[in-house]
Amino acid sequence: PQDPPTLDSGLVWNNRFAALGEDFFEALSPTPLPAPYWVGRSTQVAATLGLPTDALESPDLLQALTGNLQLAGTQPLASVYSGHQFGHWAGQLGDGRAILLGETNGLEVQLKGAGLTPFSRMGDGRAVLRSSIREFLGSEAMHGLGVPTSRALCVTGSDAPVRREDIETAAVVTRTAPSFIRFGHFEHFSHTNQHDPLRTLADYVIDRYYPQCRTDGRYNGNPYANFLEAVTQRTAEMVAQWQAVGFCHGVMNTDNMNILGLTIDYGPFQFLDAYDPGHICNHSDHQGRYAFYKQPNVAYWNLYCLGQALLPLIGEQEQAIAALETYKVSYPLAFASRMAAKLGFAEVHAELGPVADTFLRLMAADRVDYSIFWRRLSHWAREQRADDASVRDLFLDRTGIDAALLQFSELLAQYPQGLDADLMLKSNPKYVLRNHLGELAIQSAKAKDFSKVAELLKVLERPYDEHPEHDALAGFPPDWAGSIAISCSS
Ligand code: AMP
Ligand code: MG
Ligand code: MG
Repeated sequence: PQDPPTLDSGLVWNNRFAALGEDFFEALSPTPLPAPYWVGRSTQVAATLGLPTDALESPDLLQALTGNLQLAGTQPLASVYSGHQFGHWAGQLGDGRAILLGETNGLEVQLKGAGLTPFSRMGDGRAVLRSSIREFLGSEAMHGLGVPTSRALCVTGSDAPVRREDIETAAVVTRTAPSFIRFGHFEHFSHTNQHDPLRTLADYVIDRYYPQCRTDGRYNGNPYANFLEAVTQRTAEMVAQWQAVGFCHGVMNTDNMNILGLTIDYGPFQFLDAYDPGHICNHSDHQGRYAFYKQPNVAYWNLYCLGQALLPLIGEQEQAIAALETYKVSYPLAFASRMAAKLGFAEVHAELGPVADTFLRLMAADRVDYSIFWRRLSHWAREQRADDASVRDLFLDRTGIDAALLQFSELLAQYPQGLDADLMLKSNPKYVLRNHLGELAIQSAKAKDFSKVAELLKVLERPYDEHPEHDALAGFPPDWAGSIAISCSS
């Protein structure tokens, strides 16, 4: 095939994934889309990539990031991976609609929705506008919250039709992460008994991202066991942050688990409105496998899949199990530490756990809004706990919340230096990307008004700040929010 015309963006590309060799991918170019337009842009991410400040004004870059011009120095490719989906081995999957352009400034850059690849299977290689806006805002919101995540430079749209349940229009997300390698990449080579590429991949990830696994770690001389333990730690930390911030991923298949412990593949995700531990955000998840409260255990299950895949390299099954078992300590510790911060404590104290549990139990019983509760509690703490009303009003069970606030106050009396209201305000966001906010921005964008996408991005980049002019975005969800159904269709 003919090479597409190229554009020199000024970026210097060092395509280390491509250098791994042909076992890992198929080289190909994105498929063009007609008459693209900007839908959302992040100047923060542009700066992170080393793009000039006005880059996202460039009509040529608009074309390139929609797949219509090739960026000079990139080596576009689709990588092969496999995975477990909803608890079952799914066999080969791969980048069916995401195309890795290459790596610049230490970051891989992918175009999601850029057309067919050899791994598209039954799909069309495209992504629709609504899901692309959700990924763009969702990943930037998570970054703003301090949760490890892929990021998004921009969304570009085209009026080209894309068939889902209805006819929609196409969009492309330009997303970036230090690496998009998934648990499923390792599973792929392990399950197909390709142990040489499996080792090549593990060595690449260890040397590049986990070099301490060669020298430190508990499994002397076994960098692969150290690696499994390090991934276990990072995954535990990531999921603890999800639980603390009320983020439901929705599709925790092993092909959606990043090897660096980053949140990736934003599909039917949701930030909780009312606190419901059993909440299922993915309408395609009929069994509730990925319900909110199950996420920590699912992550552990997924890590076992990774451990199984790495076993040919680790050799000693006992070491693999020991590495995985650390999750049982590191997850609860990471979660306790996040909840302590939400309660205003920089360090974990044994008495904080029961306080957090009491609040969560009361919230679950009354379906209290998760983010609003924590933010109000932070203000209550900052105002010297003078007035209980704003917190109390959230609950039907007034006796319960009164007792819980008393329990918390009594604990604070034991730790007069303990509570740090500023820490609470930095740990309990005022703004999260609620489904209805995303939905409103999507409806406007469908009518070619992209101002709501930009407004949301601005606030979600700094979700712990007050932004009083955007108070309306921090309110309770409207009644119709509960009827938004987000499925795997994207
Ligand atoms: P996901 O559930 O989005 O993580 O996707 C699972 C697999 O399906 C991955 O291999 C994706 O690349 C592939 N896939 C999802 N949607 C499409 C699509 N519209 N066209 C091609 N492949 C797709
Ligand atoms: Mg190949
Ligand atoms: Mg995926």
